[in-house]
Amino acid sequence: MSQAVLELSAAQAAAQIRGGELAAEELFRVYRDRAAAEELGAFLWVAEEVPDAPADGPLQGVPVAVKDLFCVGDVPSAAGSRILEGYRPPYTATAVERLLLAGATVLGKTNMDEFAMGSSNENSGFGPVRNPWDETKVPGGSSGGSAAAVAAGLAPWAIGTDTGGSIRQPASLCGIVGMKPTYGAVSRYGMIAFASSLDQAGPLTRDVTDCALLLSHMVGADPCDCTSTGLPEDIRLPVAERLDGLRFGVPPELTGAGVDPGVKVVFDATVERIEQLGGSVEPVALPHAGHAIAAYYVIAPAEASANLARYDGVRFGPRAGHTDLLSLYEETREEGFGTEVKRRIMLGTYALSSGYYEAYYGRAQRVRTKIADDFRAAFERVDLIVTPTSPTVAFGLGERTEDPLAMYLSDALTVPMPLAGLPAISIPTGMSDGLPVGFQIAGPAFSENRILEAAHAIERAVGFDGAPPRG
Ligand code: GLN
Repeated sequence: MSQAVLELSAAQAAAQIRGGELAAEELFRVYRDRAAAEELGAFLWVAEEVPDAPADGPLQGVPVAVKDLFCVGDVPSAAGSRILEGYRPPYTATAVERLLLAGATVLGKTNMDEFAMGSSNENSGFGPVRNPWDETKVPGGSSGGSAAAVAAGLAPWAIGTDTGGSIRQPASLCGIVGMKPTYGAVSRYGMIAFASSLDQAGPLTRDVTDCALLLSHMVGADPCDCTSTGLPEDIRLPVAERLDGLRFGVPPELTGAGVDPGVKVVFDATVERIEQLGGSVEPVALPHAGHAIAAYYVIAPAEASANLARYDGVRFGPRAGHTDLLSLYEETREEGFGTEVKRRIMLGTYALSSGYYEAYYGRAQRVRTKIADDFRAAFERVDLIVTPTSPTVAFGLGERTEDPLAMYLSDALTVPMPLAGLPAISIPTGMSDGLPVGFQIAGPAFSENRILEAAHAIERAVGFDGAPPRG
């Protein structure tokens, strides 16, 4: 019975519950037991009880795994950081609240890089996550726990956040689907902040249909987040099987140097598939995309240094240094924050300091505008832009931890889109070295339905069917 349940996509499980063929409690129990027993390090907290009465809605009691940085009322929510250990927020993030209203239940909180800073999940204050395809490899980050949980069949689906790639890159490394929506589509209220002008929540799922279904219940303007806009049209479940009339752009800046040969082979094969499906493909220039990493690693740390100032041992989490106020601040932050978080606070504080502000932060913001302008010009010629999601497949645990720059380059292909506020999806389209390879499709702001339709057609044609063994 439980094996059959595991094979259902989340959309199929919801339909079976609606049709009376499957009990929501049964579904919850199967996943809860798996999540509680898992050994990948994907979960930081798992619900003990079967929720008694999920709301009556289209998600019909299907459980969702939630990245640890979403506040969930009275549930541990620490954003992967020791400085928030034991924090149980008194309220629930809007994105999660909307899912609950649609009938979903919270299965557990997933492991992540501390405050979403990382590309491998090795920066978690609570230990790394292992990739279910090969446990000596990383799952990607920062939503590594969510991605590993979905790939390993520990959760039907999950939500994460993406600031510079943290949904798409782990989805790619774990062979699942992950989507970062247009900035503002989903409320950030109740998401523990990293870089507020970039952070967006989105789904991590087994297939594109589940991605559309989950996203459709997350989006919407929210009076609690004045940067939220929702979407101009509802998210539809995608049906496309062809790509006739759609123009795809391939930017040489994001498909050439630095991309592993094995990843390139899969990318090129997928582009060929697009042409077979009736789509047209042409090169399109993104001249400033090569500067995205440099701009991002000024802007994101600058915003983080401001957002993280609130963790001082007074309001949240554990406290150290009791002799005087300054030692309380210093020792709490010294003990509570990990190395990468401290590095970002230093970088960001420096970039914002008077005298350096113009040279670093001001300049990075101008580069950001140029990147957004490049995309705007490109989308006058093409409907969608495609790239590999990650320059490499999953890398070894420990392989990049000593070299922050090598780690930062993991995001070279995903960072330009959030800098421009644009939506993008990653879908698995092949394997290299026995590990999954993700294909990224980006579109103009608010083009989620177009991206999902194209992703659906490509998913159908590629027929990627390589879930790792589900023990
Ligand atoms: N890996 C990138 C970083 O470390 C992106 C993280 C994210 O999207 N949250 O900042």
